[in-house]
Amino acid sequence: MSEEDNPNMAEVRNTTENANNASDSGATEITGNTDTAETVNLLHRAFDRRITRPLAWLRNQLHELGRMLSLNRRDIEHAVHLDLGKPAAETALMEIKLVLDEIRFVTPRIERWSRRCHVAMPWLMQPARSWTITEPKGVVLVISPWNYPLMLSLEPMVDAIAAGNCVCLKPSELSPNTSALLQRLIGKYLDPRTFAVIQGAVSETTELLRQPFDHIFYTGNGKVGSIVMQAAGKQLTPVTLELGGKSPVFVDASADLDVAAGRIAWGRFTNAGQTCVAPDYVLTTPKSVEPLARKITAFTRTFFGDNPAESASYGRIVNTKQFDRLIKLLPQDRKVFIGGETDRANLYIAPTVLTNIRPDDPVMQEEIFGPILPILAVNDAREAVTFINRRPKPLALYVFTRHKATRRLFERHTSSGALGFNLPLGHLLSSRLPYGGIGASGMGSHHGKAGFLEFSHIKTVTSKPTFPDTLHLAYPPYTATIRRLSRL
Ligand code: NAD
Repeated sequence: MSEEDNPNMAEVRNTTENANNASDSGATEITGNTDTAETVNLLHRAFDRRITRPLAWLRNQLHELGRMLSLNRRDIEHAVHLDLGKPAAETALMEIKLVLDEIRFVTPRIERWSRRCHVAMPWLMQPARSWTITEPKGVVLVISPWNYPLMLSLEPMVDAIAAGNCVCLKPSELSPNTSALLQRLIGKYLDPRTFAVIQGAVSETTELLRQPFDHIFYTGNGKVGSIVMQAAGKQLTPVTLELGGKSPVFVDASADLDVAAGRIAWGRFTNAGQTCVAPDYVLTTPKSVEPLARKITAFTRTFFGDNPAESASYGRIVNTKQFDRLIKLLPQDRKVFIGGETDRANLYIAPTVLTNIRPDDPVMQEEIFGPILPILAVNDAREAVTFINRRPKPLALYVFTRHKATRRLFERHTSSGALGFNLPLGHLLSSRLPYGGIGASGMGSHHGKAGFLEFSHIKTVTSKPTFPDTLHLAYPPYTATIRRLSRL
């Protein structure tokens, strides 16, 4: 196949001279002083000059991103700790490693994923050929939240880079140390013509949302998700919304309670409960409520000791606003099975398990997003399914059971971003699985190939030789022959 036939191939070969060359052709670098509109404009100009198209350039940028993470581990762990009180080991495992994994998974596959894909044309069109090619959407805006401030900024960015886009990243103002570090490091390691970081809060983001983007990828709460979608709608910009909500767990009477308790405790109390896919509440049969609460309690002691406030493995709440919101969800009575201790000065809330909880309790009215775990009683799996289906579609749903029929029931009769049997958070850790929500928990997905496609446009190409000109069979006037052919 000639280069003319396949423009992608020509770029693959012409890449080495372009790779890592940020100063060719008098290109303008985006500096910290450039205003929002000008920054986005410069990104569009860089995209139009096809800087992001050569495969070697893409691979080099991803390699540099990986190098940036490896060489600045300590600074990253320190910044995330300052923002969230997150233990360094947790940042290493749940933030840095996940982005590195994504880079390692995506980089060697870009060429395969972007190959043209031949498709047969209907016989009426013959002779003719058709195929699809993936092309980058253009300049994408990534808006990220504070709870995994590195991972949720860079994982979408890896997918967007792999697909060949320019990226404008807007990290969260609520994790200012990580956001500032990201701005400094991305400016240093990545091509400044094609990637920009804009820091700021509501007014800066509002200004950003007025700019023309080819895709907006937003991670955060649903209220702001709706604002983002409205702003995108004005310019018909496609959006990915990675939102949250209450992710339920069902534990049936057949489940191994020890395993369930350990995994639920890990899922809930990692990052002090501030994980979007953390188990938000547990439904279990009446007889299992207390044994399960006791076993989860035992696991929290194993994880964080008798006084989690002194544990180096236990995180803190991000700020006083979130702390005060969480305090209001804590009941004052016998519903607290374990935990409930708080220290506002240190933004500390102990791992807390609640029992005797009713669906109309405050803790069941919103996503908890903190280290509080209510356990509610239901009679059986069917009641659990009804309970879940009466509420907005969750980002994740977890089921602990030994019964195949129960698995099938949840697989067929519930709808959620992801469904985990005996495994909370597992899908988040794999680049091979699409990650995203449905309904109130979001739209679109990312990670691996799903992320690559989310940031790509699949373009259909058709080609028909001019001789023989069989298409004239379809031209008006519509004769009896044409009518016969259409009936075929
Ligand atoms: P946040 O407050 O950091 O907000 C997220 C982003 O939105 C920030 O960059 C912020 O600057 C921007 N923003 C805030 N208000 C805005 C406005 N009025 N207009 C435009 N932009 C605005 O984070 P958050 O929303 O508190 O994050 C927590 C929520 O995110 C939870 O609901 C959680 O479940 C969800 N979440 C989802 C995922 C996922 O992958 N689906 C991951 C993490 C968090």
